[in-house]
Amino acid sequence: MGNILVTVPHATCPPGGPGPDHLCDIAAPAAARQLAAAVRARGAVVELFLGDIPRGCRLQHRGCRVCDLNRMRCADTPWRRAVRATLARARWLLDVHSSPGDARSFGGRGFVILLNAENRPLAGATARRVIAAVRRLGIGAALLRGRSPDGRPGNAIIAEAAIAGVPAMLLEFSERLGAAERQQIAEIVAAAVLTTRAAVLTARARRAHSKQARGALSRKRAKRTAPTNNENQHY
Ligand SMILES: [Zn+2]
Repeated sequence: MGNILVTVPHATCPPGGPGPDHLCDIAAPAAARQLAAAVRARGAVVELFLGDIPRGCRLQHRGCRVCDLNRMRCADTPWRRAVRATLARARWLLDVHSSPGDARSFGGRGFVILLNAENRPLAGATARRVIAAVRRLGIGAALLRGRSPDGRPGNAIIAEAAIAGVPAMLLEFSERLGAAERQQIAEIVAAAVLTTRAAVLTARARRAHSKQARGALSRKRAKRTAPTNNENQHY
């Protein structure tokens, strides 16, 4: 059936912590572990990847090694290569992030899913189901458009999954949520990905989708499309 990959590209904080620029996702490792446990409890195999390089450093720590592991320019880091190597046996990829949860980060919502255009054919229906279920808990939630990594900042990990034909979504947990609320969301996501129709895609359908996603990405590169809503967001 394939494994569930859980990635946390912004898991590692720079020396001195996240700072005002939110240089790491402080709640994401905990959320990812809750998600991994919820998936394992349902009998599936999880591979959890916690990012090992901070995406930025504060000025006083100049010289520390940085790379935003969710960007195309960091595609050749050992961490990204390790994630890529597991895509062939993946059933789903869940890319886990956390944001401050204030009005500037996703309108203060408790939970957001981002999908690039090329993720929608495989992951869109599942993402909508998850958002509806999270809203029923009374938690503000939305499905938003992410950015493809066509030469500008973008959500590179879920884009790479699409190219490999693997359903993937980027999950943003608010850092204002408590552990119990994160747990409820983790259960919803785990149940949804393990019952989704995309999970039973044939190898042939995945190859066809992968070809489409590659085509969509190169067309976008050529067109230089207008920026969408998560340009420069640092979550
Ligand atoms: Zn993040």
